[in-house]
Amino acid sequence: MANSSKCPNASCDSTEFESVVGTPNNSSIKLLFIRCNSCGTVVGVVDSQYYIDASENI
Ligand SMILES: [Zn+2]
Repeated sequence: MANSSKCPNASCDSTEFESVVGTPNNSSIKLLFIRCNSCGTVVGVVDSQYYIDASENI
C-alpha cells in the first residue's frame, strides 16, 4: 500500500477524493461514497451512521 491514496483507475491516477452521500436502490439507508474527484470511480463506501467513528481510523 502506498502512503497516499491514489485512484485505482489506471488511466486516472488522481490523488484527490470526495465524499458523496447516497442511498442505494431498494434501500433506506444512507451511505457515504468515497470517490475519485477526477473520474468519479468509487473507492470506498461507509455506512453514514458509522462515519464519525470510521473517520478516526482512515
Ligand atoms: Zn480517478
